[in-house]
Parts: sequence; C-alpha cells; structure tokens
Amino acid sequence: MLLSLIVPCYNEQEALPLFYREVTGVLAQMRCDYELLLINDGSSDRTLSIMKELAASDPHVFYYSFSRNFGKESAMYAGFCNARGDYIAVMDADLQDPPSLLPEMVKILESGEYDSVATRRVDRTGEPPVRSWFARAFYRLINRISDADIVDGARDFRLMTADMKDAILSMTEYNRFSKGIFGWVGFKTYWLPFENVERVAGTTKWSFWKLFKYAVDGIINFSNAPLHIASWFGILMTAVSFLFLIIIIVRRLIWGDPVAGWASTICVIIFIGGLQLFCLGIIGQYLAKTYMETKNRPHYIIADTNAPHARKIR
Ligand code: UDP
Ligand code: MG
Repeated sequence: MLLSLIVPCYNEQEALPLFYREVTGVLAQMRCDYELLLINDGSSDRTLSIMKELAASDPHVFYYSFSRNFGKESAMYAGFCNARGDYIAVMDADLQDPPSLLPEMVKILESGEYDSVATRRVDRTGEPPVRSWFARAFYRLINRISDADIVDGARDFRLMTADMKDAILSMTEYNRFSKGIFGWVGFKTYWLPFENVERVAGTTKWSFWKLFKYAVDGIINFSNAPLHIASWFGILMTAVSFLFLIIIIVRRLIWGDPVAGWASTICVIIFIGGLQLFCLGIIGQYLAKTYMETKNRPHYIIADTNAPHARKIR
C-alpha cells in the first residue's frame, strides 16, 4: 500500500522543517510505503530551498514548485494530479492537521467500510470571535442553499482512496472550492473529530477579506440560490407595482387627481434602481465565473520539480 501525502506550502519556512520531522516520525512507526508531495505555491521565502534540501536527503520527498502563487486550491489540485498512492491525504504544513491521526485514518480505510476519512474541528479556540461567527453563518447558509453537504469545522485534511481522488480530478472546474467538491462527489465518509490545534510557526495566509471572498465563491460555485432570489425579487416587485397601478387608476376615476408626491416618487425610483443593480451584480458574479471557466486556463504551472513523472501544467 502506497500512501501519498499532499502538502500545500506558501511561505512556510518556519513550519515546514517541524512538519517534516513530525510526519516522518509518525510514518516510520506506521511502516507503510509513502511519498511526500510538497507543493510550493510561489513562496517568496526559503520554502523552496528547504524542500530541495529535504528531497536531497530523502527519496520519499517530491517537490513541485509553482511559477507563482496560485492559491491553496490549485496546490491541492496539483497534488491530486501527481499523487500515485492507493491512499491519498491532504495536510497543511503548519501542523494544524495532526499527523498523529494518520495511523487511525489508514486503519479505518483499510477496514474497507469507508472510502474516505475526513477530519472536523470540534472547537475554534484561538480564532477571532468575529471570524468564528462568520464561519458558522456561512456553513448554515451554504448547507441550506446548495446540494454540497458541508460540515461545520470540516478541514481539508482527509484521507481518501484513489477512486475518490479520480472522482475529484474529474471535476476540472477552474473555480475550485474543495470543501464543496469533497461533499459533492459523495462516497462513504467517516468523520473524525479532533480538538483545534494552533499553528506551530509562521502566520496564517488567510486575511478576513480573503476568507470572505472564498466563502462567496463557495456559495456561487455550489448554488444558484442567489439567481433565484433575484428573479423572485423581480416577480414580487412586478406584482406589487401592478397592484399599485390598479389602486391608482381606480382612485383617479373616483376622486379625480390628488396632489402627487414628488419625494416619494424619487424614493421609489432610487429603491428600484438599487435593487436592479443588485440583481445585475448577482448575474455578473455568475457571468464572471462562466467567463473564467470558458477560458479553460490551466489550474497551475510547475516551474521546478524533482519528480520525473510530474504533470507540469494542467
Ligand atoms: N497555502 C497555500 N497557498 C496559499 C495560502 C495557503 O498553499 O495561497 C497553504 C499554507 O501554506 C498552509 C495551508 O495552505 O499549508 C493552510 O493555510 P493557513 O494555515 O495559512 O490557513 P489557516 O489554517 O489559518 O486557515
Ligand atoms: Mg493553518
């Protein structure tokens, strides 16, 4: 059995050596064959040279270095494209995904009952409260309006069979939202809860704004609900205005023309104008996604690697 570990790294010079030491310690105890796929996502620090040092001294290590920063989603995709294992796992480089869980995860898959073992944080200690609140609201919302089953606190850290990996690779969309993709492909998933661990070294690569945009992307990628809301708004508005029209005509016929209100007219015009722009914006979001998809650009470009079998562009 070959185990592939995919590790996206973006400016992880402090954390990567610590991660390597811990994960190889766990793997040595597991006594299974493994490959470590270190994806350098356009880091500007010493991450790549650390990867090269590790690869020089350890034949299990393959590094894949992107030509620029493509984002964690692209890094994971590159990992999936290049993983040759029977079991494949994605792990963060900052030890927030404890390698000590791996033996248990492998055991669950080996029992043959499940196709994937996913991990879930049971708490959010060490995270700003505002961020936790938005995260919870996001999970409630996306589960209500999309058919991707996304668990609150789910991490990208999961172990899966090669079959599930192939299913994930068959989803070639450019705008990727892995939490949704994992849920969408289905398969039997075992959820393994664990307590939140804080990052060992370095700083988080996600600002609040970046996370917020990621959440909006997730909703747009997995749900058409905003489009439906826009059309319902339109229908409601038409119905209401039709009702008003009738009332005004009847009033005119019975009582003649009373003094018209200029201020209220302007308010209504501005309100409707705003609503129209809002709905146009929603349509624009989907159109922009469609535009990017039709361009069919590669998800990643590998500029440097030590793997002879590497898929360099895809
Ligand atoms: N990461 C990446 N590309 C990016 C941002 C992050 O490959 O553009 C990697 C990062 O190196 C880490 C993982 O994704 O291994 C998770 O990032 P981070 O720990 O900063 O996120 P958090 O745990 O704070 O959500
Ligand atoms: Mg982290």
